[in-house]
Amino acid sequence: MNDIRHTWTREEIMEVYKKPIMELLYEAASVHRAYHDPNTVQVSTLISIKTGGCPEDCGYCPQAARYHTDIEGNELMTVSQVKAQALRARAAGSSRVCMGAAWRNVKDGPEFDQVLEMVRTINKLDMEVCCTLGMLTENQALRLAEAGLYAYNHNLDTSEDYYKDVISTRAYEDRLETIGNVRKTNVTVCSGGIIGMGERLEDRAGMLVALSSLDPQPESVPINALVAVPGTPLEDQQPVSIWEMVRMVATTRITMPRTQVRLSAGRTGMSREGQALCFFAGANSIFAGDKLLTTPNPDVNEDMEMFRQLGLKPQEPFAKGPRPVSVEATEAVHHALGEKPRWTRPGHTIERNEQARTGRRE
Ligand code: SF4
Repeated sequence: MNDIRHTWTREEIMEVYKKPIMELLYEAASVHRAYHDPNTVQVSTLISIKTGGCPEDCGYCPQAARYHTDIEGNELMTVSQVKAQALRARAAGSSRVCMGAAWRNVKDGPEFDQVLEMVRTINKLDMEVCCTLGMLTENQALRLAEAGLYAYNHNLDTSEDYYKDVISTRAYEDRLETIGNVRKTNVTVCSGGIIGMGERLEDRAGMLVALSSLDPQPESVPINALVAVPGTPLEDQQPVSIWEMVRMVATTRITMPRTQVRLSAGRTGMSREGQALCFFAGANSIFAGDKLLTTPNPDVNEDMEMFRQLGLKPQEPFAKGPRPVSVEATEAVHHALGEKPRWTRPGHTIERNEQARTGRRE
């Protein structure tokens, strides 16, 4: 099937989003069935390999050093700690491990080498490995690919217009640059966003324009509902309704038919019926485990009970693409030392993002 469109406009996407719900669900479910098995859902486990102390100012994030949240930070985990968690995740039905580090960008050196070893180790467990480590240069993306990385997550978060209201320490184009660097390798792209940050419908549509116009479109698009954490600038945002989530998932499915649409943060606030509607609307991936980096998530047993009730089965690893070959560190060829990153804001002062703090725009 070669009917993937990269030319969606904001207006067209808003029209889809606003359709009567029965029509929207029917259309999204039809697209979903044409490209995916509707009874299979991928289960991923997110491991926070380095928590807290991040120099960035993402208005939604409790891991930003400048906000006053009660996150307990930790240094980079060891390879054996990560392996133990990955084995537990595999035993509980996960086919993918996503490792998140609260970094602005990857820096060459011993910590990155340790992450590369984690990638090799998990790939050997026959699981898909994803990383979310901040901004990446081309050479770092190549090194991750060489280690056997399956996917790299780097969210666009929202529309380009609204982005600067939520984050001031980097620009939208920096995000696109990293995604472009990942695309130069055989690592798949995972990129999505968050709803409920005070954005308008135009911003939700704008984000989907940006994602769907990428060619190829991201293999995975996480849709998060903001979990408003006390101490962050977005602490007073009201939770989004299940209907907004269903509409966002359905619209993502229609605009990006082949993509794995990931129901991410915010699932604890959703009923099982609400989640079932999201699966019907085209979501086919969830994160398992009681924590999503630092925010609460349903417990694994609860999810397995939901799968049983809905007749869903977890997706096998590498169901959508081949397992990458891991090159051992001793044989790796891409040594990135000295590569100059091209970020728009190489250095910045840490200050509160007051604009995001004031909440909803006019
Ligand atoms: S979302 Fe990531 S980059 Fe932004 S503050 Fe949190 S850890 Fe840092």
